[in-house]
Amino acid sequence: MEEDIERLLSANRLETDESENKLRPKTLDAYVGQEKVKQNLSVFMASAKKRGETLDHVLLYGPPGLGKTTLSHIIANEMGAGIRITTGPAVERAADLASILTNLQAGEILFIDEIHRLNPTVEEVLYSAMEDGSLDIVIGKGPSARTMKIPLEPFTLVGATTKAGMLSAPLRDRFGMVFRLELYNEKELTSIVHRSSSILGIRIHDYAASEIARRSRGTPRICNRLLKRIRDFAEYENAGIVDLPLAQASLSRLEVDSLGLDTTDNNILRTIIEKFNGGPVGLETLAASTGEDANTIEDVYEPYLLQLGFIARTPRGRICTQGAYKHLGIPLYNTGLFDLNPDGDDSAC
Ligand code: ADP
Repeated sequence: MEEDIERLLSANRLETDESENKLRPKTLDAYVGQEKVKQNLSVFMASAKKRGETLDHVLLYGPPGLGKTTLSHIIANEMGAGIRITTGPAVERAADLASILTNLQAGEILFIDEIHRLNPTVEEVLYSAMEDGSLDIVIGKGPSARTMKIPLEPFTLVGATTKAGMLSAPLRDRFGMVFRLELYNEKELTSIVHRSSSILGIRIHDYAASEIARRSRGTPRICNRLLKRIRDFAEYENAGIVDLPLAQASLSRLEVDSLGLDTTDNNILRTIIEKFNGGPVGLETLAASTGEDANTIEDVYEPYLLQLGFIARTPRGRICTQGAYKHLGIPLYNTGLFDLNPDGDDSAC
């Protein structure tokens, strides 16, 4: 996606994120937040190890940048297993996947990112591999066609997706564990900022770390990226330590507002309010009016705007809530929302 190359707040991986591996936690203990996922995973990993078996297949889903790839590396590390990494769109033919699977060593982890983008004929190869640990190869054609089973070494498939709803039911059902990753809260992100600062050798005050956390849209990838840009400002100004004023000044120069919204988020909200009278407006219409891609709005911008409660999804489309009006400083009168909460705090309007 072109626009992601420039977009500082994109949760998708950018070319400038190549140093990400350095910041990835290697163990479950070092992985911040996602407590429920960690607790369950540690139980299942411990019992698989005790039985001397491979871990059941794992599906991780949630918005980009929340730690799905990181978690797959941690699973491999904690299970003492190797990991092979690929993505849904990279595996073009069934034969490519067959070759990946037959080359896996016993116990290895196969990580398939964007698994919802696997081509259906490729996906079918996974069914028997996941269920019976074998490849079903059809030999010949017509009435004389035979199916041959090729046994595979036991392996664990870790699938990651931003769109669990787009996964076919037969594939989803073959995962023994399905974990949803949630956006991180401010405390968790603050601890990620501190962790990354110490790895990168950046001295930072607590208040500055919390400020970065607050503006990171609940996403570790974004908080690490903002931290690195602020380090650039600090180095440029010969500041030995990142303090609150420096963090705030840098973030406003980066056009990241007090809640972590950038010009595109604010443009989406303004469009719903000003062009569609607060909504409801359908996703495609919104995409056309803002010049953004519908998928990008849905995957990248919307999760955080929904979490903030600035927009809501209704059967007829997206609507802006009072919070969005207040954030943008747009008066609520003349909108249906004004009457919804006559006793509410409309002082900012
Ligand atoms: P995804 O695969 O979901 O897009 P990644 O696993 O690539 O996300 O995570 C992006 C970056 O965010 C990683 O480099 C890692 O440094 C950081 N990160 C993600 N989750 C955590 C976490 N729970 N604790 C600490 N850092 C994290």
